[in-house]
Amino acid sequence: MRKNIVAGNWKMNMDYEQGISLFSEIVNMVKDEVIGNQEVVVCSPFIHLAAISKLSSGTGNVSIGAQTINEHESGAYTGEISASQVKSTGAAYVILGHSERRAYFNETDELLAEKVNAALKHDLKPIFCIGETKDERESGSYFDIIKTQLSKGLFHLDAEAFKNVVLAYEPVWAIGTGLTATPEQAQEVHAFIRKTLAEQYGQEIADNTSILYGGSANPSNAQSLFSQPDIDGGLIGGASLKSRDFLQIINVFNA
Ligand code: PEP
Repeated sequence: MRKNIVAGNWKMNMDYEQGISLFSEIVNMVKDEVIGNQEVVVCSPFIHLAAISKLSSGTGNVSIGAQTINEHESGAYTGEISASQVKSTGAAYVILGHSERRAYFNETDELLAEKVNAALKHDLKPIFCIGETKDERESGSYFDIIKTQLSKGLFHLDAEAFKNVVLAYEPVWAIGTGLTATPEQAQEVHAFIRKTLAEQYGQEIADNTSILYGGSANPSNAQSLFSQPDIDGGLIGGASLKSRDFLQIINVFNA
């Protein structure tokens, strides 16, 4: 059956020392206080990856991820980081398709499909984000938007490759805004995503795919969101920067 996953997205926060100290706190708390078998993922800036990967080794259920990769294999792309470079730090995951990357760095569905391929080629699991803007929700076109993001970004993959993908439904209007989708709104979309996956890859693969919710999740609302049948955890921005809040969200699965 599918895994429950709580993934933190630190975005462009934390200098080197701050990141090491936050990650050490998280690892120690998870070691001492988390009893479930949910997976914890920390997606840090590139500068922390190698060091926190060393700190995580042997902890079992804390994995490391990046927040983007370049789609090319290697070469003259000054300032960019490739999938194989990220993999060489010990990272297991990479966030792709985050709405901030789509909006501020012009990442199109077509480009994201190339990044997905690069990640999978180097054994990095994409945490692939999809979600509608406020206007798209209000106009009622959100199911179409989500279906297009899935089909253009991911549905070129065969079933075997797709098994390595984690999805995150992140309504853009809820990210960093303090506005959370209600559990019913989120469940409606998660169920739609799972149905769309079943049409593409069959029910078994759809049932085995972890679909995370992201958008102002915090210790007060995580329980009601994660208890929905098609919500398998969260992608957590702001609340992942405080170890105690992040731990409380992780521990929702032990309640
Ligand atoms: C995110 O960046 O993926 C996110 C969900 O952010 P926040 O939790 O801060 O809304």
